[in-house]
Amino acid sequence: MMLCVNCGAREAEGGPLCRQCTAALLVVREGKKQRIEVCPKCSSIHVGGKWYSADSTAPLARLLASSFHFENASHVRVDEASLDLGSSTIRGRATATVKGVDVSLDLEREVFVARVSCPVCNRVTGSYYESILQIRTYSGSNRKLLEEALSVVEETVSARSSDPSSFISKVEWLPEGVDIYMGRKNDGQRAAAALRSRYVSTVRVSKRLAGYREGREFHRFTYSVRILDLSRGTAINMGGKHYLVSSISGSAVHLVNTGDWREEQVAPQEFFTRQWEQSSVQPERRRGLVLARRQGETDLMDMSTYRVVTARGEAQSDEVEYIVFREQAYII
Ligand SMILES: [Zn+2]
Ligand SMILES: [Zn+2]
Repeated sequence: MMLCVNCGAREAEGGPLCRQCTAALLVVREGKKQRIEVCPKCSSIHVGGKWYSADSTAPLARLLASSFHFENASHVRVDEASLDLGSSTIRGRATATVKGVDVSLDLEREVFVARVSCPVCNRVTGSYYESILQIRTYSGSNRKLLEEALSVVEETVSARSSDPSSFISKVEWLPEGVDIYMGRKNDGQRAAAALRSRYVSTVRVSKRLAGYREGREFHRFTYSVRILDLSRGTAINMGGKHYLVSSISGSAVHLVNTGDWREEQVAPQEFFTRQWEQSSVQPERRRGLVLARRQGETDLMDMSTYRVVTARGEAQSDEVEYIVFREQAYII
């Protein structure tokens, strides 16, 4: 009999280690938090691009497996997976194969649950919606930002999980943005408010008569949210002065006045009431290596022309992006 080289206590099996020491090689780490959609009317779930109304064990098992990293396992099988809606948790049992030894383990992982009505229920109720939330950006399209904004909307709607009429009935991607159809008027309003507190944005509301219900007028509301997404260094004209956008946070637009190179902070409401437009001439973007730093100024060597330039602003790293605007180099 050969003893395990690690513990020296038990018999080695199929290698230098015993079963327990082989099993102990397995390392399970949490991966990305996954997202699923649940229909609030029939409880069908949408996972991996398909809707499941009855047995969703297999797709839930795949989702659960993909939300972990299994190190040293040659094969992992998850079964008995189920979703607990109350705690937004998927639980299941897995068998991981580590150097020929099968290791059983219980898995449990929280997922993000979005409330979206399924195509079957939409057919029955005719894609019922009371409000439409339209999200647009100033740049025309910005898929990454729009997807992030959509998840803010989904979270807002999901926060009201006790209300069965609170759901998203349709998400429509358009070249210019995304339209979200909602079961409740109030959800459109709350989601627009959530976006407005998160992004520098404008909200317009319009309503139109959609028909009569129990003898009373029934209106549909459209909330149009437009998010300001000017990138760093964009030149704008405001009240006859030139500015560069330094950053945009939820509470303010940070600008640099290119007349005196001072920073200014403008509150969102104020920004939208002022007359502004993107300048027809935009700055040139270049890269430079930092040679010397002084108070408020940096000497750079341009990485394509090898010329030495003195830029306004302080470099945070040894290689920076800088812009040239109206013959002035600037680190933004
Ligand atoms: Zn051992
Ligand atoms: Zn359904």
